[in-house]
Amino acid sequence: DRLRLDDKVAYVTGSGQGIGRAFAHALGEAGAKVAVVDLILEKAEAVACELSLKGIKSIALAADVSKPEDVQRIVDTIVARWGTIDIACNNAGINMNSASEDTSLEEWDKTFNVNLRGLFLCCQAAGRIMLNQGYGKIINTASMASLIVPHPQKQLAYNASKAGVVKLTQTLGTEWIDRGVRVNCISPGIVDTPLIHSPELQPLVQHWLEDIPAARLARVTDLQAAIVYLASEASDYMTGHNLVIEGGQSLW
Ligand code: NAD
Repeated sequence: DRLRLDDKVAYVTGSGQGIGRAFAHALGEAGAKVAVVDLILEKAEAVACELSLKGIKSIALAADVSKPEDVQRIVDTIVARWGTIDIACNNAGINMNSASEDTSLEEWDKTFNVNLRGLFLCCQAAGRIMLNQGYGKIINTASMASLIVPHPQKQLAYNASKAGVVKLTQTLGTEWIDRGVRVNCISPGIVDTPLIHSPELQPLVQHWLEDIPAARLARVTDLQAAIVYLASEASDYMTGHNLVIEGGQSLW
């Protein structure tokens, strides 16, 4: 079965909750060993514990992906423990909301440090291991905001950083494929997370729903088969691709 990931070694950044957590479960259920990486160690430990209860081999690691020493430490730890890295899911990302004219330099830098610098550091550190072994799958989390400007929020720094994720993915994806390393990204639409259920967000959710041909928000389960596919040999002829999963929202 070309979608199985047995004996493969994977990590997922930002997998202490949300989309990353769902990715970690999906990769583990497909057979991979999974390093759960998050800024907050307790969150990573809780998810690693969930995986272990399912019989999935996992470890929890704390790292701030925007720090080169943290990224190198997690890569070294995974290689020391499991011998290599076959699947790198660079998913950690943050989103801040202010009008463009009020976006502070601090907000701009923080967004880019996590969403783009962090992704560069992870792709490079994991990529070196993969280029050495002549095989690897890198899957970055971009966003539908890489393609459109979701209405009504503008989110200047976030949107620009996610467009950067797509171009980074295209560049690495074409540069490394002849050495066995595929680099692709997933662009989710608006995902139904606990955050979205707060009363003050309900008017916004109503607004979003009107923009989605599928007439509902995405669920993390809508994204799980995609991560397994892009991590597996079934997608070996795909590289530099942005797999958009948004219920048609980017087309309206
Ligand atoms: P989330 O906020 O629920 O979870 C993100 C996790 O990343 C948290 O556990 C957090 O502790 C961790 N994290 C934050 N900064 C980090 C850092 N510097 N280093 C390591 N870990 C860090 O987010 P989510 O909704 O699961 O989103 C995951 C990814 O998907 C992000 O890149 C986000 O931009 C993208 N995305 C989300 C949506 C959505 O609607 N939720 C839509 C499109 C794209």
